[in-house]
Amino acid sequence: MCGIVAAVAARNIVPVLIEGLMKLEYRGYDSAGLALLNPTLTRLRSVGRVAELAAQAAGQVAHHGIAHTRWATHGVPSERNAHPHVSAGLAVVHNGIIENYAELKQELVAEGYVFASDTDTEVIAHLVRHTLKSTPDLFEAVRLAKARLIGAYAIAVLQEWDDAIVVARHGAPLLLGLGDDGSYAASDASALLQVTRRMIYLEDGDVAELRRDGVRIVGADGAAANVPADRPVNESTLSADDVELGDYTHYMQKEIFEQPQALAATLEMIGGAQTLSPNLFGVAAPEMLAGVKSVLILACGTSYHSGLVARYWIEQLAGIPCSVEIASEYRYRISVPNPEQLVVAISQSGETADTLASVKHARALGMGRTLAICNVAESAIVRECA
Ligand code: GLU
Repeated sequence: MCGIVAAVAARNIVPVLIEGLMKLEYRGYDSAGLALLNPTLTRLRSVGRVAELAAQAAGQVAHHGIAHTRWATHGVPSERNAHPHVSAGLAVVHNGIIENYAELKQELVAEGYVFASDTDTEVIAHLVRHTLKSTPDLFEAVRLAKARLIGAYAIAVLQEWDDAIVVARHGAPLLLGLGDDGSYAASDASALLQVTRRMIYLEDGDVAELRRDGVRIVGADGAAANVPADRPVNESTLSADDVELGDYTHYMQKEIFEQPQALAATLEMIGGAQTLSPNLFGVAAPEMLAGVKSVLILACGTSYHSGLVARYWIEQLAGIPCSVEIASEYRYRISVPNPEQLVVAISQSGETADTLASVKHARALGMGRTLAICNVAESAIVRECA
């Protein structure tokens, strides 16, 4: 899973974008890029590390910008496929997948738009630009274009001479940061701690406008969402150290070496207790866990393998059946739902798109008992399971 950072602020936002992307590096990526308005569009892209993008961006000054780390799904990792994608003076970054991109592309090609990449993302840039022919307002154009997109995505859009950046989410994480001198958006809170702790988690279907003096949000129903009544402002308690790489070479190494501390910190919570209280999993846990007759673990990659180990322990110690499924398989196959079953999602970042979607799928099937095991307390999966 990759990342987005967007900023509109009185300060120079170029260092904010770069630092934000560095904080999102732990999610993995194959290329990175950014678009700045100063006041015409400057686009920089790199197939290497964010540090290489930072070197390219040295000396740039801007007050509006969007940035991206890409994990290729459509089109090989290359500079021409790296985001942002542009359509004239308009630039887009996108996390996720547009499932109906081929059909939209055909339509847009027939309208005369020329594609410069193999990505699904580029259709968003041309579609928003095309929609701007019928409405001059970028916010409205993104809202109308969004209605045509099928898939899971988070996007950020900016255009030359416009004061606002427009962001939207549908099935992929995106939050807003309210700073003293501007407004920000990112895929997760760690990218924005450098500028603010005041965060608004967008809901699925939200479209939001970032301006220097505040934000505006319209929900999936088309009605303006009130801040803070409809979208509460959260004070993030995340520690910056939690996401620092420190002296380690990469994040997997950091996690391996931090296992003793992670275990100690977890055990500290239950120190002195005679029994393991279900409340450790949250106030709703005792009631939710009481009727559980079996466990379904949903995860991907290494988390899936830890689930396989957990299955042995759960069946041996708890004496109830446990199955483990690769999240991406589970969500696309026809399964037999069991509302009594506890669904356990395992994800290091808490942002694994397939695992998040599989929990939503389980819920939609009527399996409402969900638990997340994850390193990031404010992540999308933890919030989905709350
Ligand atoms: N589907 C888009 C691409 O392949 C976005 C991938 C991502 O989430 O980074 O460019």
